Amino acid sequence: MKLIIVANRLPFSVKENLTFVKSPGGLVSGLETFLKRSDFKKYTWIGWAGSHLNKKQFEIVKEKAKRKKCYPVFIPVKQLDKFYNGFCNKILWPLFHGFSSYVVYDESYWETYVAVNKLFCDEVAKHVTKNSVVWIHDYHLMLLPSMLRNLFPEIMIGFFLHIPFPPPELFMQLPWKKELLEGLLGCDLIGFHIYEYTTNFLRTLSRTLGIDHKMGEILYEDRLVKVETFPLGIDFDLFHNAYERKKIKNLVKKIKDQLKNKKVIFSVDRLDYTKGIYNRLLAFEKVLLRRPDLHEKVVLIMVVVPSREGVEQYQRMKKQLEEKISEINGKFGQIYWTPVLYYYRSLNFEELVAHYLATDAILVTPLKDGMNLIAKEFVASRKDKKGVIILSEFAGSAREMGEAIIVNPNSVNDMAEAIETALELPEEEQSERIYLMQERLKRYNIVKWGQDFFSVLDYLKIKKLKLSTKLLNQSLIDQIKSSFHKSSHRILFLDYDGTLVPIVSKPHLAKPDKNLKDLLKSLSEFPNTDVVIISGRKKEDLTKWFEGIKINFICEHGIFIKKYNKDWESLVNINPDFKKSIRNIMELYVDRLPQSFIEEKEFSIVFHYRNADPELASLRVAELIDELLILTGNLQVNLILGNKVIEIRPAGIDKGVTANIFLKEKPYDFILAAGDDTTDEDLFRSLPETAITVKVGIKKSFAKYSARSYIEVRKLLESLVKNE
Ligand code: UDP
Repeated sequence: MKLIIVANRLPFSVKENLTFVKSPGGLVSGLETFLKRSDFKKYTWIGWAGSHLNKKQFEIVKEKAKRKKCYPVFIPVKQLDKFYNGFCNKILWPLFHGFSSYVVYDESYWETYVAVNKLFCDEVAKHVTKNSVVWIHDYHLMLLPSMLRNLFPEIMIGFFLHIPFPPPELFMQLPWKKELLEGLLGCDLIGFHIYEYTTNFLRTLSRTLGIDHKMGEILYEDRLVKVETFPLGIDFDLFHNAYERKKIKNLVKKIKDQLKNKKVIFSVDRLDYTKGIYNRLLAFEKVLLRRPDLHEKVVLIMVVVPSREGVEQYQRMKKQLEEKISEINGKFGQIYWTPVLYYYRSLNFEELVAHYLATDAILVTPLKDGMNLIAKEFVASRKDKKGVIILSEFAGSAREMGEAIIVNPNSVNDMAEAIETALELPEEEQSERIYLMQERLKRYNIVKWGQDFFSVLDYLKIKKLKLSTKLLNQSLIDQIKSSFHKSSHRILFLDYDGTLVPIVSKPHLAKPDKNLKDLLKSLSEFPNTDVVIISGRKKEDLTKWFEGIKINFICEHGIFIKKYNKDWESLVNINPDFKKSIRNIMELYVDRLPQSFIEEKEFSIVFHYRNADPELASLRVAELIDELLILTGNLQVNLILGNKVIEIRPAGIDKGVTANIFLKEKPYDFILAAGDDTTDEDLFRSLPETAITVKVGIKKSFAKYSARSYIEVRKLLESLVKNE
């Protein structure tokens, strides 16, 4: 297996003099640790190399990077701004973090996003082989999965989103919502940090594309796509063991000596409005206001790491923060005490851990954060089991760190109280809390995170293989054709909606096209061949549509039968009045579920909800089923759950029962049945073992084979009658 990692950035940045330095941030160091500690000896990393390179410098960097198995993507400066600062950081970033008013809807950003994803696709395509697994990271590359899927239908593609996925109401504000979702659905596996983002994504799929899932598994086109939660971990040992390093010990001592016996509160983040840095200052200010006893006894070390300086929002925010810090220091400071020690730069690993270790309490209070690794790193570093973490309930990591002091970062009061509690928390309690969190972080570390992702991907690969052996392919079609021609009595049972024509929003719109009529005509005129359309539809629809063609019909899921040139026969003997009471209930639900409707047939009644809002539908339909089950308990009827329909029809009769009436009439030695719905399962189950049964759609079925769509069914039928 060959692993190809694709991320916006390579694991290193290129400096002015074209030398390489390790890229900052958790994603790179995390992935590198995972790769080092797992079995992936062979991997390639594709990403962007930096903005300052001209084409000539880029070629030099490219050659050098090859030695590290890295392949840079060249993004022209003109595109870079609209892609990175534009679509990624003025649209996706704010919207996904719930800052919808910060979003700048600019069509040219979108066009550039598409173009840059294509640049990535071109580079990745050069490296893909039959056994490749492509692992794509983050919101910069949401279109890449489907671009690659179009080129390489067979490879495994995984995607991990490192930021939150918003609730549907927010995501659906995007004018390009469908394209982005379809882009991601090119994957086999889509991973999110926490369950909330996974459900947000699944709900959005349902509301935007009408796609349902079962336990996070989606059938999209002809493929299985799995959506799963994998909380990103850290390199626990690296942080935990750093405590023993001499250099770090010295740094801790320096910080402590400098601050004498003052209590230290630490705050470190990238400059970003999602991080809630300003509110944190307000909370600290509040503490100083109401607790004069803490004056001169506490300092807040605030490190703000420069980030996205090209986006105006960030520049404004920096100014606002610096003004507030000056105000606090001006108001409370003394010549021998500066309440807020502020640094606008990044810390290297040793400095960062030294600060974690010199700290009494750390404030990690983002307004929204996909995961937040700072929180995990702080806890992992505290081998001494001391220190308190004040953690926002809106950080993904809060799900695994319930022993932190959890706060709502929108409440300055809440945070101020938390600071006071933290500064006074007995050491014993500190150590109990840290210990419990450490045990969890140790178990679910970065390596486990990656391994989990790949074990799901492996499982999907096996599942994919199994599916593909069932799928109709040319050689199977050839075999079916050969047995069709060798037989002397042939019969074909063909379901209509979803099997011969696509499913449409209103049943009456599913009229057959000319090609289908011609195809059924040739099949039915083939010597010794009987064609039966076996449908849930009303009698009138089908006979009207196929007038003049030598076809037999089974309608209302087996209740009515019509042999060619003969009259309709009914196979049930029940008073259709049972429909009345059912109709009364269904009508109530039509009012409660907009866009649902009732279809009444002679002996059955159907509640359709294909066009209704899927979330509301899942609620209402469950209630309706409950009521119907109670009502029909003592009637001789069955409740059938079909494809976005609930049907009540007489018991004891189904497609299988009626199809067998035909089978008794002639010694058929070629039987073919195709269908897409649960009602077709009755048919598949009841046919002789030798029958060729085809399920449309990749679902669990009694059928021997599956077809991706009605188009493949038609292709199979065409090949039977084609002269070759
Ligand atoms: N980091 C660092 N130096 C700093 C500040 C942060 O190396 O001065 C690293 C930190 O160790 C962590 C990452 O940057 O791994 C920040 O990740 P997090 O998930 O907390 O925030 P993000 O920047 O991804 O939003």
